Amino acid sequence: MTWIGRLLMTLLSLSLSQLSGGETPTQTLKSGEALFLALPCPHKQCTVSCDGHTLTAHAHPTYADHCLVILATPLEATSGNHKKAITIHSTEGKVYPAIKLTTLEPDYPVEPLSVNPDLVTPPEHALKRINKERKEIAAALKTQHSETPLTSAFIEPVPFKKITSPFGIRRLYNEQLKGRHTGVDLRAAEGTPVQAPHSGIVKMAQSNWYTGGHIVIEHGWGVSSSYFHLSDIQVKEGENVKQGQQIALTGATGRVTGPHLHWGVHIDSIPVNPVQFMNDTRRLFLRL
Ligand SMILES: [Zn+2]
Repeated sequence: MTWIGRLLMTLLSLSLSQLSGGETPTQTLKSGEALFLALPCPHKQCTVSCDGHTLTAHAHPTYADHCLVILATPLEATSGNHKKAITIHSTEGKVYPAIKLTTLEPDYPVEPLSVNPDLVTPPEHALKRINKERKEIAAALKTQHSETPLTSAFIEPVPFKKITSPFGIRRLYNEQLKGRHTGVDLRAAEGTPVQAPHSGIVKMAQSNWYTGGHIVIEHGWGVSSSYFHLSDIQVKEGENVKQGQQIALTGATGRVTGPHLHWGVHIDSIPVNPVQFMNDTRRLFLRL
């Protein structure tokens, strides 16, 4: 069982009375990872907060007397600098300390890449377009349907053959550091069909300078998924898609060294490891 599974079991075995008496459990949160917390909420009216900020507590899909809180820690969070304390507030105004969280920064490696120099230092005429697209991408990732629940485990957008570039690595394009890898690159021959991993609403379906053919889907609970470098986009902005529906074909458009699918998952605009997120949803809905 993974540490998230163990944490889930620990929390499920706690009752509010135990929380009020014993020592507060501590858990490590990794930067760039999501954490699914099942918290006791017997009357469904408690509120949950983290360091004074109210968190969105969703109805737990499996356990009626628990709520579900999903936390995402930014990739930039370094070890120990994001100490958090989760508390549960009962309807009678009682406060129960639920869990303490400390951050651990995994040892994400550095990856050197060689690409067309124009794509590292873009030409003057492209700067306006790049700036506009950056704002459009940020807007597409701002979720508007957080009340909508996820209803099933995520499925793979393309058949998993190999991750050619993992999540979180520091990318060195032509020896210049150009930020972190906010998704995973999946090996996929040009023209491989891409399917929606969960139902949702298409928030972006366009061609961008860096990311090429780019789709963003909002799924609910503040979760979005993204697909880059597509050769053919088969959905439109505003369209509702179903889980498993074909949305695009993979390609090599934008800043790439060859055909592949870049797959990203964001929670409230914070990028998290999509493979880990998919596995978390499988544990949640399928109890794997
Ligand atoms: Zn990528």
